[in-house]
Amino acid sequence: MLQVLPDNAIWLKDSVEHFCPADNMVILESGASVEYEFMVISMGLKPNFKGICGLKTALNDYDNVSTIYSEKYAVKTYECFQNFKRGTAVFSAPAGPIPYAAATLEIAYFASNYFRNRKQLNDVTIVYANANDALFPVDLYEDAVHRIAEKLNVCVQFGVNLVRIIPENNKAVFACTRAPENTTCLKYSFLHVCTPMEPPDALKKSKNLMTTGKFVDVDKRTLQHRKFTNVFALGDCASLPTSKTVGAISVQSYVVFKNLMNAMEGKDIEPMYDGYTASPIFTGYDSLMLAEFDYDKEPRPTFPFNIDKEKAWLFHLQYTVMPYIYWNYMLKGTWDGPETFRKIFHLEFLRLRKESAYLGCK
Ligand SMILES: Cc1cc2nc3c(=O)[nH]c(=O)nc-3n(C[C@H](O)[C@H](O)[C@H](O)COP(=O)(O)OP(=O)(O)OC[C@H]3O[C@@H](n4cnc5c(N)ncnc54)[C@H](O)[C@@H]3O)c2cc1C
Repeated sequence: MLQVLPDNAIWLKDSVEHFCPADNMVILESGASVEYEFMVISMGLKPNFKGICGLKTALNDYDNVSTIYSEKYAVKTYECFQNFKRGTAVFSAPAGPIPYAAATLEIAYFASNYFRNRKQLNDVTIVYANANDALFPVDLYEDAVHRIAEKLNVCVQFGVNLVRIIPENNKAVFACTRAPENTTCLKYSFLHVCTPMEPPDALKKSKNLMTTGKFVDVDKRTLQHRKFTNVFALGDCASLPTSKTVGAISVQSYVVFKNLMNAMEGKDIEPMYDGYTASPIFTGYDSLMLAEFDYDKEPRPTFPFNIDKEKAWLFHLQYTVMPYIYWNYMLKGTWDGPETFRKIFHLEFLRLRKESAYLGCK
């Protein structure tokens, strides 16, 4: 934290107990309070383990149930893969917004590649049980992820929501999303769970900041709070109807920065955020598909070609270049997303296309 915090920031080693936005006050766990003129909230979401009956026991006491949605169990997930010999591996995805929903599918892809590498794929059935009606919110990418799921032998089920685990019998009970009184049961050898998500307790206690759902109530274009104009929010906890990713946050942080400056200087707040988000989906040990889109579910690709295809060079870009950008630019607030590169690549692509058309004519 010290390496990435700006020199002039004061780090309070405490956590928020609740907010009093009407009094411009934050109450800390230690009992201390902090007064503010302006506030930015980015507290993320947390897994709601109680949302699935039997989950905590299954995660803590059984070595064939895990989740990458909690750092506590992420390593266990890999150990489960290593211990897995044969049978059905089930991967669940809940309804409703969660951080990086694509990871629920990506981990199934990962399992398939891992089992294939270990020559186990003939003894394994991989089921992706999804509470939603689609795999991806954008048609173009929906087709692509289906194609990849088929290639990797991942059987997809829609409209089934994991509600209960009976770990002693290796049974997962799913409610039908459209008629929750109807349930089906799947027998698993390994179960990967993504829980429903909820806001941190400090936000739950601060109802006047929140939408009736579970998010900090901000304008989706300005990121300013709809009631308290000296409050801004971004990231997973904000009420922004786009996919919750770091790629989205890189653009949101620029919008918050600009509008915070505008608010501090008494200038107009600008509606700048178009919902840009980026989901890099690892599809193999050296392939990745980069899905980028906005609030209108329109693709917003940085690279203007083959945007719905998995590529090795995208894998290496994500694996080597993005960590560098993250540590050196994103955390220091100087990476505003790929907009500048998108413009350059698209102009260059157009120029090349014109040039080749001209040469073709000649
Ligand atoms: C398995 C997985 C894979 C992912 N892969 C990708 C990916 O490949 N690409 C991508 O772009 N995104 C990915 N994401 C999504 C990305 O991690 C999140 O969108 C991003 O971390 C959200 O950032 P945030 O700041 O909103 O919340 P967080 O990263 O959750 O940070 C919130 C912070 O607030 C702190 N906090 C919470 N409560 C309090 C309190 N009461 N007081 C003080 N501090 C508090 C927390 O400790 C935490 O440090 C992935 C997510 C998961 C779970």
